[in-house]
Amino acid sequence: MKRDNLVFEILEKEVKRQMTGIELIASENFVSDQVLKAMGSVMTNKYAEGYPGRRYYGGCQHVDETEQLAIDRLKELFGAEWVNVQPHSGAQANMAVFLTLLQPGDKFMGLDLSHGGHLSHGSPVNSSGILYHPIAYQVDPDTGLIDYDRMEEVALKEKPKLILAGASAYSRDWDYKRMREIADKIGAWLMADIAHPAGLIAVKLLNDPLEYCHVVTSTTHKTLRGPRGGIILMGKDFDNPFGKTTPKGDIRKMSSLFDSGVFPGIQGGPLEHVIASKAVAFGEALTEEYRQYMKQVKKNAEVMAAGFVSLGYHVISGGTDNHLMLIDLRNKFPEISGRKVENTLVQADITVNKNMVPFDSRSPFLTSGLRIGTPAITTRGMKEEHMTPIVEFIDRIISDIDNENLIATVKKEVNEMMADFPMFAW
Ligand SMILES: *Cc1c(COP(=O)(O)O)cnc(C)c1O
Repeated sequence: MKRDNLVFEILEKEVKRQMTGIELIASENFVSDQVLKAMGSVMTNKYAEGYPGRRYYGGCQHVDETEQLAIDRLKELFGAEWVNVQPHSGAQANMAVFLTLLQPGDKFMGLDLSHGGHLSHGSPVNSSGILYHPIAYQVDPDTGLIDYDRMEEVALKEKPKLILAGASAYSRDWDYKRMREIADKIGAWLMADIAHPAGLIAVKLLNDPLEYCHVVTSTTHKTLRGPRGGIILMGKDFDNPFGKTTPKGDIRKMSSLFDSGVFPGIQGGPLEHVIASKAVAFGEALTEEYRQYMKQVKKNAEVMAAGFVSLGYHVISGGTDNHLMLIDLRNKFPEISGRKVENTLVQADITVNKNMVPFDSRSPFLTSGLRIGTPAITTRGMKEEHMTPIVEFIDRIISDIDNENLIATVKKEVNEMMADFPMFAW
């Protein structure tokens, strides 16, 4: 077959974009060469509907080995009793759990999308909002923190069947214990979606949702630094009261229901090349090197948030406990939207994403906020001392947003800076 130059030339351009720019999208990261290699492997040729040892196709002896490795390593990483590594993405993992625990039309409760919740937590255009009945809890307007008292009031009134912890744009830790108490008062399932902070949780820099939640979902490509994908995990304590809140029986029974929720519930053949790559990534996440990496991610985020605060920016909740921060531009630059900043920064090879802030006055297409995260730049090797120059790049551009010369100058400085930080996959 002739080499497809058209596609491979585009891939080369993407390599260059990733290498020369400052990547601040909180949900992104750079995988290692071995994670990349396993993903681009022959496992993509194999059909393997079912689970290790119980497949619908022959020839699964080796995909069984990699999938079992992924399972064992993931269990070790989170101290989980049961996991499923097949969901194609974080949204699929959530969909499989909803399919298992809810009936169409059932109420569930998640964080308001405009306060940091994810599309798959009840957006009217997502299956979670189309098939089920979402109810939202919110953050406190003054502190920017989840308002657990109000959450309890709403939960007692609305009696959702499931309460969902987790967000895409929330910079603080979660009180899973409190949420479990609320869930228990109304006999609801408690689920956590840790797509963003999974890596920080794995190395115990944040509270552990597995202690209190019936079920936990995550992506594998954000802080976990694996290939794009999803996972589902279940609790440590075999005695935790699954039996109390559900007529469906014990944890073993529940885990097989979740397995069925993924396949055949919402998926066909698993992506075994991605699962092999997940196994590699979970192996990496079990190392001391990864633990140090996560600590650095958190330190970098703290320093960066403090930098923005010192320049007069409104960082929601005043700072961060994790790898990201949410900046409300309205106090300092009321005329400038998040979209405008995102579009301008990209011209200087700085990638961030516009984001709704709690109680935003602009639409989701414009927004008044920016979400900024440190996982990707920390993978590139950046430390605390590199955070201040990045804050300054961003501030210089926002402060003089239509100045083309300035954008060109900053872009040059950005490219020079990044030349010192190789990407380990290349
Ligand atoms: C990113 C994210 C997801 C979805 O992950 P995809 O892999 O993009 O489907 C789900 N939940 C939360 C909270 C997220 O931040």
